[in-house]
Amino acid sequence: MIYLHIPFCKQKCSYCNFHFSTSLRYKEEMVATLKKEIVLRKDELENKNLKSLYFGGGTPSILSVDELQSIIDEVLKYFTFDPDIEITLEANPDDLNLQFVKSLSKTPFNRLSIGTQSFFNEDLQFMNRAHNASEAESSIKRSQDFGFENISIDLIYGSPTSNIDIWKQNLQKTIDLQVPHISSYALTVEPKTALNTWISQGKVAAPKEAEQHDEFFYMTDFLKKHGFDHYEISNFGKPGFHSKHNSAYWKYKEYLGIGPSAHSYNGRNERSWNIANNQQYIHSLDRNVLPKETEILSEKDQFNEMLMIGLRTSWGVDLKSLKEKFNAEFLEYFEKMIVQKRNDGVLLIEDDHLKIPEKNWFLADGIAADLFMV
Ligand code: SF4
Repeated sequence: MIYLHIPFCKQKCSYCNFHFSTSLRYKEEMVATLKKEIVLRKDELENKNLKSLYFGGGTPSILSVDELQSIIDEVLKYFTFDPDIEITLEANPDDLNLQFVKSLSKTPFNRLSIGTQSFFNEDLQFMNRAHNASEAESSIKRSQDFGFENISIDLIYGSPTSNIDIWKQNLQKTIDLQVPHISSYALTVEPKTALNTWISQGKVAAPKEAEQHDEFFYMTDFLKKHGFDHYEISNFGKPGFHSKHNSAYWKYKEYLGIGPSAHSYNGRNERSWNIANNQQYIHSLDRNVLPKETEILSEKDQFNEMLMIGLRTSWGVDLKSLKEKFNAEFLEYFEKMIVQKRNDGVLLIEDDHLKIPEKNWFLADGIAADLFMV
């Protein structure tokens, strides 16, 4: 699978620390450079038959439909598309206007991941999103009208401008709009964000963990009652609408990441990441130099990662693969570490998979970290 990072945004959301630029000055060069990187790295993926192509960001919908199509065309010169390929565009509601969606419906994109975040203006303004509540709703309806069935929306809970009642209304609206997939994250305070500054200056209250906890569990029950599978801590999908792209990440499949700051993984022991600077990325590829760093993952890294990622999913960690992959020293350590947690009901084994019961998912990262080999 291939991930393409489009590193531009209209404005900086108050909570975001992803890599992007709000200047579109180098947009055309960027599109040309992304294509160049595709060519230079085409042989890094063993499997040339793609099951997923994902445009993320930043804000990929800031590109014109012609630019997006031209990148797909470049990919198609070196790869084939599986008949069931998932081709996702992350899009912001304010970009999904009539002309854009109409043109997009004529391209191979078959999945939209819309950065809705909330259906309430107060939340959206606090988050410094570029869209308003009315666009949050109309962008979904318009996409459906033009034939996009496979739609995911992002929702954020635990904002100081929100509360459990507003959160319930956000979830109800999602159901009313018949959205089949939701990625939902608690608002977190990242360094170098406006939110972090506001909180440290005492202008805004920090998100309250107890409220986020209640909102997470309300969401879990509510969405399950409405037919969603809770298949990863932050992801809910109706049957047939789970994200193929993200599920492949969570099953340790190889992927190629194109664009500034994009990460790649060879499915075994090598990870690389591109420089997180648009101009340096372009200049480097101008000279035919790949602007990436590579890390060889030690056995310990691979072991810890397998736990970290697997324990966040409904299928858990495949114990058969774990036993095949790691030597006796790891397995003895692992057996010893899980005894107490299984006795306490924090971990369970089902069908040869180690899982965290859903009621403890909110604590998953801490539980996995307790098992890490250091
Ligand atoms: S649109 Fe997305 S990537 Fe861009 S600033 Fe907002 S949250 Fe970050």
